[in-house]
Amino acid sequence: MHAPGEEAPWQPGAASRWWLQRSLSALDAALRRRGNSLLILRGPSAQALENLARGIGAERVYATALVDPAARLRDRSVRDALSDCSIELVLHTPDLLRDPDLFRSGSGTPYRVFTPFWKALRRDLAEVPARPAPERLPRPDERAGAGVTLESLGLQPAIEWDRGLRANWAPGEVAAHAQLDEFLQDEVARYAVDRNRPDLPGTSRLSPHLHFGEITPGQIVRAMVAGAGMERHESFLREIGWREFSHHLLWHFPHTSDAPMDARFAAFPWQEPPDPEQLKAWQQGRTGVPIVDAGMRELWQTGWMHGRVRMLVASFLTKNLRLHWLHGARWFWDTLVDADLANNSAGWQWVAGSGADAAPYFRIFNPVLQGTRFDPRGDYVRRWVPELANVPSKHIHAPWMMVEEELHACAIAGTVYARPLLDLASSRRAALAAYDKVRLLPRG
Ligand code: FAD
Repeated sequence: MHAPGEEAPWQPGAASRWWLQRSLSALDAALRRRGNSLLILRGPSAQALENLARGIGAERVYATALVDPAARLRDRSVRDALSDCSIELVLHTPDLLRDPDLFRSGSGTPYRVFTPFWKALRRDLAEVPARPAPERLPRPDERAGAGVTLESLGLQPAIEWDRGLRANWAPGEVAAHAQLDEFLQDEVARYAVDRNRPDLPGTSRLSPHLHFGEITPGQIVRAMVAGAGMERHESFLREIGWREFSHHLLWHFPHTSDAPMDARFAAFPWQEPPDPEQLKAWQQGRTGVPIVDAGMRELWQTGWMHGRVRMLVASFLTKNLRLHWLHGARWFWDTLVDADLANNSAGWQWVAGSGADAAPYFRIFNPVLQGTRFDPRGDYVRRWVPELANVPSKHIHAPWMMVEEELHACAIAGTVYARPLLDLASSRRAALAAYDKVRLLPRG
């Protein structure tokens, strides 16, 4: 069903549309191998599904339930339209490990804190039931009609900006499972140590595949149980736990895609109106802070950014620049191939300090110290910010500390790397002063 308007204001961004086109094409190929094919219809969803279900004499419609608030509204309208014709809508949550309505704390309320959520989830994690794909499917019902073509959806970029995406990603179920196999063979053993290192291939890069349902968390858990066992992969499984937690949060607190979970932050003195030049410098990776710029350019060129660096660029935007987290969330939404409303909202709110179980506001990431720790030789920075190719490793994360002759020798005198967009120490102090204004308000 193609009805992006029904997902407003969080309809798929440009990078997601790019992925979707390829993912659907791969799905069609997989269905054809099993004797069926993909039928694409245009919305409004309720009307189109009702027509289809009635046209082929269906008694039941099976669908995946998403946690996004707009998708849930759509599901309700589809359910109403179908039930008017005595057709049942059966929703499943295959891309979650547990049903959010059933998985609650001992007192029956939704979890708001990760640690008890994870403890409860981890307890019977190995018992995720397998749902193998059928070998064969019935042939398409001719009464369903031909639908519209994938090409007619206009998901492809009109101008060729996607070279970096094509070079880095292979959407589809087959590629997703190959990616998991490769990760289990190579990187997973070092995940606990390497996962924070953007200069190393230390994480799974499964996020877009998970978002588009090309692989499920249940399949990942089962692969680990069948392999070295879950105990060997605790720190990786915990991240799958964070994904689950974010999805349950959005299910129970749907307003948190647009409003702070911690109500005190509604009164936070964000920089308003935002300085468009500062926002643009952040988006384009021209702030003068090397690791922030490297992350933003990695995002622009590949549609993905390392998780540790996501935290650093988000902290820089919300704390040093004091721009509302929604400005960052919207940019990520358009540029990430793994743009996911639950993970994105929770990630931004966690860094901004306004989320459930968030990092305390006063913990402001220092991009120089973080860079030195997690990109010790500066390889990540040099890869994405070639202007800094000649800067020695000891200055790579704070090139402005070099004296004039050194700046000239590295060919960055007079650039933003000799004089960054803002001073990290004074902007940090200003952020803490702003936080003092909301700190004493009731939490709500
Ligand atoms: P791995 O480290 O290999 O982790 C495996 C999987 O666990 C990931 O694919 C992802 O599904 C899940 N996961 C890992 N970390 C987190 C986390 N902190 N929160 C929730 N799930 C997690 N992730 C998205 O999938 N989509 C987003 O739009 C998104 N936006 C983010 C925005 C901000 C500001 C921050 C701080 C984080 C965001 N994340 C988002 C979470 C995380 O950064 C990415 O999931 C991760 O970096 C993807 O790389 P990977 O697949 O190699 O992760």
